[in-house]
Amino acid sequence: MTTFPTEAARRLALDGGRPARSPERPWPAWPRATSAAARALEDTLRSGRWAISGPWTGQPSRNQLFAERFAAFHGVPHCVPCSNGSSALAIALAAVGVGPGDEVVVPGLTWVANASSVFRAQAVPVLVDLDPETLCLSAKAVEEALTPRTRAITAVHLYGSMADMDALRRIADRAGVALIEDCSHVHGATWRGARAGSLGDVGAFSMQQTKLMTSGEGGALITARSDLAARLEQLRADGRAFTGATRPGALELAEVGDVLGTNQSLSEFQAALLVEALERLEEENRRRAQNAGFLDEKLGALPGLAPVPCSPAQTARAWYAYVLRIEGGELGGIGLETLAARLEAELHFPVERIYRPLNDHVLYRPTEALGDRLSPRQREELDPRRFVLPECDRAYAECIALHHRLLLGDEADMADVVAAFEKVWAG
Ligand SMILES: *Cc1c(COP(=O)(O)O)cnc(C)c1O
Repeated sequence: MTTFPTEAARRLALDGGRPARSPERPWPAWPRATSAAARALEDTLRSGRWAISGPWTGQPSRNQLFAERFAAFHGVPHCVPCSNGSSALAIALAAVGVGPGDEVVVPGLTWVANASSVFRAQAVPVLVDLDPETLCLSAKAVEEALTPRTRAITAVHLYGSMADMDALRRIADRAGVALIEDCSHVHGATWRGARAGSLGDVGAFSMQQTKLMTSGEGGALITARSDLAARLEQLRADGRAFTGATRPGALELAEVGDVLGTNQSLSEFQAALLVEALERLEEENRRRAQNAGFLDEKLGALPGLAPVPCSPAQTARAWYAYVLRIEGGELGGIGLETLAARLEAELHFPVERIYRPLNDHVLYRPTEALGDRLSPRQREELDPRRFVLPECDRAYAECIALHHRLLLGDEADMADVVAAFEKVWAG
């Protein structure tokens, strides 16, 4: 352990002591405004093509460029960019046929969109508990939640750990239900060498500002199934699909209308940003992995503190956030919130709680949203409080999260993180 010679350095920053890290020293920025991104935006601005629904300029659209590269990166033939991660989920559910009365299994601890997208499809979200190791939905819990009404499973790879894709693929195949992967936290992660998103029927991604690659708002869908690809594409653009224009000035999207879509297209500016973001993703992920490995070793040595691990089958991680579990949610009688506040004061970096479980979440109250238009039976089915989720509750009570931009820091930054934890742990 580091020793702190002076009283001012030993006193917690929260109590007026000198912080473990100088408040003047900036943390890495996220999103990153690279000059390549600025050039890409400028080029798009002058290109005359700002939307996929705009006329062809004789050049491939940025959307198509990004789609080709993102698909190739994942080793799948199809990618459909879309407006955000929530629309990606809604489109994925519609593409696999989720509709009124169906059930979709989703984890009980995740971003609210995983449940609300199911609710918006007029289906019933069935919340399941977590695997306490990885914080991802438990395959055993998924299996127990299946009913004849189950139409799909949404596997969310949470914070950087992947759900057990071997077990979930097997369960989904045996039950004849679709498997959707929400990869919003794991751009670039791999499971037995295969990219996250390529193992389910559809992989859905968010490229919102905080994610590992971003265009501010943005999203994408990938699939190896060409039947689904055609549906995803049309669902994304009001039933229109790329046909390949033959002369500049002609529209590239043709009105096909096999399915009734909505417009959830990604703009050309956003696509330009994603092309650039994809180029640096792997290098950024390598840096995050290196720093996370260092923190795992140092912070994992502190009593009652454990970085959340991933399954041995996960061959590469991609941290949306660096999550640590504090055994029992306290240290010598000091509660989680106080520990987080103390760390934050030492580091001048937000130390956050993880998602609140969805059976008690202010943003997920489906029965209130529909009021008295629900039958008593529907009301019962949609009430999230019917789910008992002890591992979700325990994880929420015990875990803290640091956003991935911290992991883009250098060695001195990581030393500061370790010093802050050691200081707070010394009390
Ligand atoms: C961010 C996120 C979403 C939603 O994405 P938006 O782009 O904000 O709509 C969905 N699922 C998970 C797991 C997310 O983290």
